[in-house]
Amino acid sequence: MTAVKITRENALAALRTIGHVPVLIVGGGINGMGTFRDLSLQGVGCLLVEQSDFCSGASRAPSRMIHGGLKYLETGEFRLVRESAAERNRLLLNAAHYVRPLEMIIPIHSWFDGIVPALRKFLRMPAKITERGALVIKLGLWLYDLYGALNRAMPRHRMIARQDILREIPDLDPSLKVAASYYDAWITSPERLVLELALDGMAAHPGNLALNHVRFVRVEGNEVALQDVETGEMFSMTCDIMVNAAGAWIDRVNSGASSARRMIGGTKGSHLMLELPALAETLNGRMIYFEAAGGRICILSNFMGHVLLGSTDIPVDNPDGVICDDDEVDYLLSAFRRLFPQVSVDRSSIFFSYAGVRPLPANDASDPGRISRDHSMPELPPEGERRFPILSLVGGKWTTFRAFSAEVTDEILKRLGKRRLSSTENTPIGGGAGLSQASTHTERLLTTIAQEHRLDRSRARQLVSRYGSRAKSIAEALAGGETFLASLPEFSREEIAFVSNTELVLHAEDFLFGRSSVFMERPLRHAALRELVETIAAFRGWDAAKQSAELGRLVDRYRRLHRIDISAATAPHPRFI
Ligand SMILES: Cc1cc2nc3c(=O)[nH]c(=O)nc-3n(C[C@H](O)[C@H](O)[C@H](O)COP(=O)(O)OP(=O)(O)OC[C@H]3O[C@@H](n4cnc5c(N)ncnc54)[C@H](O)[C@@H]3O)c2cc1C
Repeated sequence: MTAVKITRENALAALRTIGHVPVLIVGGGINGMGTFRDLSLQGVGCLLVEQSDFCSGASRAPSRMIHGGLKYLETGEFRLVRESAAERNRLLLNAAHYVRPLEMIIPIHSWFDGIVPALRKFLRMPAKITERGALVIKLGLWLYDLYGALNRAMPRHRMIARQDILREIPDLDPSLKVAASYYDAWITSPERLVLELALDGMAAHPGNLALNHVRFVRVEGNEVALQDVETGEMFSMTCDIMVNAAGAWIDRVNSGASSARRMIGGTKGSHLMLELPALAETLNGRMIYFEAAGGRICILSNFMGHVLLGSTDIPVDNPDGVICDDDEVDYLLSAFRRLFPQVSVDRSSIFFSYAGVRPLPANDASDPGRISRDHSMPELPPEGERRFPILSLVGGKWTTFRAFSAEVTDEILKRLGKRRLSSTENTPIGGGAGLSQASTHTERLLTTIAQEHRLDRSRARQLVSRYGSRAKSIAEALAGGETFLASLPEFSREEIAFVSNTELVLHAEDFLFGRSSVFMERPLRHAALRELVETIAAFRGWDAAKQSAELGRLVDRYRRLHRIDISAATAPHPRFI
């Protein structure tokens, strides 16, 4: 895809005159953006609005697994497992720059436990599994291998003897009997993949816009009222179909269209980032998929040299400003201690935390783990003065977004009387174009970039791992030389300027949390936030007041949403609060 240069000013000018759009999508998470890209590829005019930055809700808060859904075998959701495994394999091909194979390790503490409850669950009878033995897990992994056979990209499962797993990961709870290893995948930059879907969509159908910091307010008669969150300016337009992809906010958006129908029963999930480099090293790129107390599945993995631990599953009514609260911190740390009794961990090990709300269907389940992760598209048909239908995108997983988007797009094409022009099954996303899991493609790209743009090979490697094949256009923009930041030395001023100016960065926060993953890669200090703001200020012309507001926004967000105090310029280390 070619790079598109869309400025906020031009986009807002277009909103003032647009009048009518065939499809209006509310919500710039993975499901809204997947649909935006697919519709754009089919030549359908559409506008997407996101109230915050792109990928701000659940889509920014996952466990970063791209998975076939091993645990859905237990609930007998075979269609979901088949679809998830196929989509996982497709993402490994279409987004090879961000989606990579991941070895999963399951520590097992018994041979035969869980057989009866697993059978009951499988037969959809009430049951609670508190522990899964080797036999149940072996059977599940055998089935999982079968479901992952289409476009198989990874090895089959294997069992690992106790002494072998303890040799590889010596700090694991020594009471385990055996372990299993199987392959799924993980995503390094969910934020950037959502952004790239936006850029691909806008490039595929010039005129289509995906705009951040613009919110849906309400339906008035047959018109939709939108608002620029920055200035308060209002816009109104008509549409043929509205897609409500507002995730956990779906009911709130529908209430703006006078519907009281309850579609969402969201559950909050939280994660911690722990500064435990020695443990991260022994994990050696693997994720541990383990049972916390009561049989709930948690994950622990090495993320860029540190440890990612999650997650919880707690019903919530209000998705605004969710955080990882004290009970969840205690729960996750005690799950950690059960898994690694000899590794010392406490709150001072936490350098980042995050939470998100899964947009699950409304339900009466007493156990949130039993709510289906499948997706659906309930409709609010035209009513009264509102002559357009509203399709709501309920549920789903990151992994299956493409299939969900294709279903929504097909439904819209049918209603608009149009034909599908192309499938997204084999369409690369953004910087995934031209790359694959084979290192030869990456090495060739590296060589080209390093030679053509006279870049140091290690810098070229950094750009490719960050942007995939989009690194070519970024390297071009760096031709005049680079000045690296003192407190964020992995970024140059020129790179930040190029990315900000071509990827709809409005606030420093959008760059830090939406265009980079550095906030997950290491603890950041106040100086890094200040230098980032100064860097953006230099090319945006921000005055002192604006710079102080932007810095305040970053510090406030760290404190409010991630529970990290990063306010003091003199503090040696950020502090979990
Ligand atoms: C803790 C956790 C762990 C998970 N782990 C995984 C995993 O490992 N693998 C996996 O496959 N899936 C995982 N998931 C599931 C996956 O993340 C979600 O299913 C998916 O992100 C939902 O995407 P969405 O686009 O529907 O919703 P969201 O990402 O929540 O997007 C909705 C967007 O709508 C916007 N919005 C709301 N109201 C308005 C308005 N009025 N105007 C404009 N915009 C509005 C919001 O700001 C938000 O950005 C996880 C989810 C959670 C919470």
